[in-house]
Amino acid sequence: MKKPFLFFLILAAGFLLSPTAPKKPNVVLIFMDDMGYGDLSCYGALNYTTPNIDQLATDGTRFTNFLTTHAVCTASRAALLTGCYANRLSLSGALSPSARNGLHPDEETLAELLKEQGYATGIFGKWHLGNKPEFLPTKQGFDEYFGIPYSNDMWPVDYDGTPAISGNKTQYPPLPMINGTQPVDTIRTLTDQGLLTKRLTERAVSFITKNRNGPNAARPFFLYLPHHMVHVPIAASPRFMGKTGAGLFADVMQEVDWSVGEVMNALKKNGLDKNTLVIFTSDNGPWLTFGNHAGSSGGFREGKGTTYEGGHRVPGLMRWPGVIPAGRVCNQLLTTLDLLPTIAGFCGARLPKKPIDGKNAVALLKGAEQSPRQEFYYYYRKNSLEAVRRGNMKLVFAHPGRRDEGYVPGKDGYRGETNENFPTPPGLYDLAHDPGERYDLSTTYPLVKADLEALAEKARADLGDDLQQRTGANVRAGGIASMK
Ligand code: MG
Repeated sequence: MKKPFLFFLILAAGFLLSPTAPKKPNVVLIFMDDMGYGDLSCYGALNYTTPNIDQLATDGTRFTNFLTTHAVCTASRAALLTGCYANRLSLSGALSPSARNGLHPDEETLAELLKEQGYATGIFGKWHLGNKPEFLPTKQGFDEYFGIPYSNDMWPVDYDGTPAISGNKTQYPPLPMINGTQPVDTIRTLTDQGLLTKRLTERAVSFITKNRNGPNAARPFFLYLPHHMVHVPIAASPRFMGKTGAGLFADVMQEVDWSVGEVMNALKKNGLDKNTLVIFTSDNGPWLTFGNHAGSSGGFREGKGTTYEGGHRVPGLMRWPGVIPAGRVCNQLLTTLDLLPTIAGFCGARLPKKPIDGKNAVALLKGAEQSPRQEFYYYYRKNSLEAVRRGNMKLVFAHPGRRDEGYVPGKDGYRGETNENFPTPPGLYDLAHDPGERYDLSTTYPLVKADLEALAEKARADLGDDLQQRTGANVRAGGIASMK
């Protein structure tokens, strides 16, 4: 009996005397809605500045070749939290409030992997991976949830295309604010929408403070802050309404910037900013048909709902002092698919048991030159493979798709004209020389085209392709809500 006791005594003494084991980093993931590549001043925004967000670039690394996985809400969020193409999980598009499907409970999210490592986990904002109770965040690894479970323009029946109109209260859909699993409030008016950024920020700050000072003080935390803004109908709180003099979109961006400042202040005040990995990005490009209520693609072609770069290329800012180089600009390809394995790598978490598509980019974030991400599939419209990419060469396949170019955009909350089934022509584009995807090089580089066609075949065999009526061998079942 003596020996085991002695063993534990030595172990305990060793633990107490040893230098403090490196504490797992906290993780703050800020995910904007419909914010484009050109919407931050550190990416060239005009008319207003975003000093707090720009500071993340000064303190950390700014990625200029960073892609969201899908150019639409639900699919994009599924990829972010699972490290998989959404179509691998039988998810696509944007789930309507009455949708009976969602992220399959058997899929492991980043929150679940971090929770297993002792993390406290909270999400404040837009979920959009299933609205039925069995799909809510608290069933997918989050301890706390507060927010609207889907988009802030969605009526509680299938979206009927009714425009979100500023200044007409009756046009605002009643939206449930969920706390945990229960609706606690209804968002009805422009004023209510305008308080969303503030309310989510308050919850985020209180989550940080509570986890620093409360009974969980020794635990690291994962804070996921998927803001409802800057998705239409855009609105700001009274403090920011009209503040910039540059229009409502600028006011809303100013409040979002304030929000990031509040989160960073809370980390600093609690002595946590040095051991916290902060990531800031967006779910897809701007919804261009909303004109002055949409953001900017920064000059990339088209926007949300398209697989041109304007739909996919988003800001990517990453900050962790002493680990991620400060002031670095990185032009290597990286995607939201890669965040799960990268964050897991930093936090000592395992990967999901089922295969994922993301790559561990810890070395790249620490300063390595080469990204582990060289290939990318652009999937949209359920399971249509609209383009593939290797390095900076991108092959677009002929497909019916959204087209905003050539149509008159809307104004002040009104939708403009758009074509949802434009016969998009095929083309081979060199993004290094032609970021706007204007000059088809198919005949100039037939070998590159053949290489990308072979890559597309690999994608089709694995994930399928609706454009060619192909079924993928490795697509997993989505979650379907029980009838009750
Ligand atoms: Mg979105």
